[in-house]
Amino acid sequence: MTNTWIIAVDPAVSTLVELGRTIGGTVTAVVVGNAVVKGVDALVRIPLAEGTPAEAASPAVAAAVAAEPGDVVLAGNKPAERVLAGAVAALKKLPVLYGLKKAGAGTAELSRFGGIAVETCAFESAVVAVIDGGVEPEGEAPNELTGPAQFQAATVTSVDKREVAQVNLTAAKRIVAAGRGFKAKEDLQLAEDLAATLEAEVACSRPLAEGSEWMPRDRYVGISGQQVSPELYVALGISGQIQHTAGMQDSKTVVVINNDEKAPIFAGADYAVVGDLYEVLPALTQALK
Ligand SMILES: Cc1cc2nc3c(=O)[nH]c(=O)nc-3n(C[C@H](O)[C@H](O)[C@H](O)COP(=O)(O)OP(=O)(O)OC[C@H]3O[C@@H](n4cnc5c(N)ncnc54)[C@H](O)[C@@H]3O)c2cc1C
Repeated sequence: MTNTWIIAVDPAVSTLVELGRTIGGTVTAVVVGNAVVKGVDALVRIPLAEGTPAEAASPAVAAAVAAEPGDVVLAGNKPAERVLAGAVAALKKLPVLYGLKKAGAGTAELSRFGGIAVETCAFESAVVAVIDGGVEPEGEAPNELTGPAQFQAATVTSVDKREVAQVNLTAAKRIVAAGRGFKAKEDLQLAEDLAATLEAEVACSRPLAEGSEWMPRDRYVGISGQQVSPELYVALGISGQIQHTAGMQDSKTVVVINNDEKAPIFAGADYAVVGDLYEVLPALTQALK
């Protein structure tokens, strides 16, 4: 029986729980701090003293994760969780799998090249993998055990918090994405208006975030950006290079607006508008209001 262990600081671990359910054994969350994680079979909590960073709990997490050969240890793709996953792998001498999509008894499917290839691998020991966490899972709160109190000596001495808007594109149900078809930063208001009408998050292709810096880097979709799978993805002035489409090809419904009928993005479109986004967008947003 392959069991799943989830290392969590942030409670948004729905995709980890879902993956654990497809694997089939028990799903145990090892939670550092106060997060409430539902929908798992068991929870081992490692309380954090005031001022102790979650990363300092790596010895406790490694001791609490009683993974047997063949088990899968998952962590969400967040800074503290990545550190804890790496520390657990190092302390327990376990391999780390990158791009895990599916796992079963001693085998795993790994996404490669941003999702355009799948690699299958076999393993005998337990393995550690980091995947995007999703949202907070629903379900019953499990019975809790308290984990060992083993910490590295580290203390947070000050916090300088910046007011930066955080976006979780991987959990977004609707996304409006802007590309280089926009001629000026101010014109992105057209995408924002459509997104507000659709209650969607705004995203972009890489050139708008790296190079022009019109949008923050956590907003770009693709092989080196965010991997998203919303119910609705609206691509505005995006050509559809594979480095972009690899990040949104799991979207359920794709709407494309582009003035070049030969743009590759149209190949994956469910609804296509060949036209100038400067004309189409105001009319579309108005019609949807
Ligand atoms: C190693 C590597 C990694 C990369 N990773 C990523 C990644 O993660 N994500 C990513 O997005 N890119 C990535 N890229 C870049 C990628 O190759 C493309 O260059 C990029 O996706 C193109 O962005 P774009 O579609 O917005 O721009 P363009 O390719 O310039 O396309 C603009 C589109 O807008 C259309 N258009 C122009 N004017 C209008 C108008 N008025 N109305 C409607 N349509 C209009 C044009 O017809 C065109 O199709 C990567 C590249 C490399 C080399």
